[in-house]
Amino acid sequence: FQVKPPVNEPIKGYLPGSPESVALKAELEKQLANPVEVPLIIAGKEIRTANKANMICPHDHQKVLGQYYIAGEQELLMAITAAETAREEWENMSWEHRATIFLKAADLLTGKYRAKLSAACMLGQSKNPFQSEIDVICEMADFLRFNAYFVQEIYKQQPLSTDGVWNRVEYRALDGFVAAITPFNFTSIGGNLSTAPAMCGNTVLWKPSSTAVLSNYYFMQILIEAGLPAGVINFVPCRGTDFGRVVVPHPRMAGFHFTGSTAVFNEIWSQVGQNINNYVTYPRLVGETGGKDFIFAHESADVDALTCAIVLGAFEFQGQKCSAASRAYIPASLWPSVKKRLEEEISKVKLGDVRDFTNLMNAVIDKNSFDNIKGYLDYARQSADAEILIGGGCDDSVGYFVEPTVILAKTPTFKTMVEEIFGPVITIYVYPNDQLEETIKSCDTATGYALTGAVFAQDRAAIIKLAKALDHAAGNFYINDKPTGAVVGQQPFGGSRGSGTNDKAGSAINLYRWMNQRAIKETL
Ligand code: GLU
Repeated sequence: FQVKPPVNEPIKGYLPGSPESVALKAELEKQLANPVEVPLIIAGKEIRTANKANMICPHDHQKVLGQYYIAGEQELLMAITAAETAREEWENMSWEHRATIFLKAADLLTGKYRAKLSAACMLGQSKNPFQSEIDVICEMADFLRFNAYFVQEIYKQQPLSTDGVWNRVEYRALDGFVAAITPFNFTSIGGNLSTAPAMCGNTVLWKPSSTAVLSNYYFMQILIEAGLPAGVINFVPCRGTDFGRVVVPHPRMAGFHFTGSTAVFNEIWSQVGQNINNYVTYPRLVGETGGKDFIFAHESADVDALTCAIVLGAFEFQGQKCSAASRAYIPASLWPSVKKRLEEEISKVKLGDVRDFTNLMNAVIDKNSFDNIKGYLDYARQSADAEILIGGGCDDSVGYFVEPTVILAKTPTFKTMVEEIFGPVITIYVYPNDQLEETIKSCDTATGYALTGAVFAQDRAAIIKLAKALDHAAGNFYINDKPTGAVVGQQPFGGSRGSGTNDKAGSAINLYRWMNQRAIKETL
């Protein structure tokens, strides 16, 4: 048995009349007409509690997709027991057996469940078909296939033996369970954060985002169909406060796999610190957190490429990628042409329901997010240090819609230049051409984040200069391309500073974090 070097799952186009488009449209209508109930899955069993909540469509908030059950303290403790019980057999199962399950899941989701998963992601998280395809289908399958391959390659690595001594390394699972908290913006992140530790023999408690339960649940069902044993991954949507109270301080918590806000990760980290004497082992804390991702243009930049990067980088999926471009630095000499091109391109962007495949943008995820974004826009509107150049409109009468918005800031440290908004808003600072050095410095230091960033220049010396000066400003750095859309196996994803532990999703580095080596020396 050997996992071949994987190829990335090809992206389907969903052009009008194509078989995938016809299947997806039918599935969208089916899911809208048939609300579902999502149980917890603990020790392989479906559990229903007294607490439920609605799953709604963000672009049509009166439309209910179904209801999901919410785990409380009792169910979380059950899930910990289930994970601990399943651990021994799972950890000791040979990795090939484990890998076959995840490889089969990848084939199921790219095959017979493609439309079902994509429709759930589109309706529940308000994504257009392309955004859904690159997330819950392609990236999800890539995570499963590449991680299986990386695990195989890591497990081959053995230390030197010498005459009369046989040295070897066993790749054990961590000594306890792994907790995963996963976000709404990528279902594939839910899939990766739960399955990457499991591939390495760990058992997992998985709390998906309350605004992305449906697509994550369908993925969980696929894992079960692919043969995942009971208790290996326990699916427990719940309140963050309950997870924090019951799971985080548990003595058997040995690893935390997180994607979400910097504030929540900091909270988890400090809670772990307060409980440090109670754990059986030091928990591994792996987090991908906030970002304030930049586009920095040099005066030699290609204006069309730059414009395209701003529009797609800032507005695809309503700017709700951790990697989304949310601040840009443009030299004064280029600004008139960039401004004109932005106005032209943004006027073509369509916003609306996911069932109209010609919409580039849909709704933001929920009321909280809508209100938060609107608050920033109101702030910019009232400030003497900024103006809203394009967009700025918000309407939540049917769905949580925010127009693609460009704010022009007079200073590089204006509030919307430095704070994460997580919406379709980019703030631009136009810098005098003779202030390149100071502006690079501000770009590097103004936010405290370091997730993604892009520089645009045609002058090779400028590319080298910007790459050097911003060498710690982004864990994913792009030259003449938008700062979103990292591909598993091609651009390992993650950042440092306030953006996370940089344990690169979709790479061997991430998998090492879920392994607990035992080095054995045997004297022969
Ligand atoms: N990997 C995604 C990208 O490169 C972003 C992931 C995230 O939003 O956390 O766009």
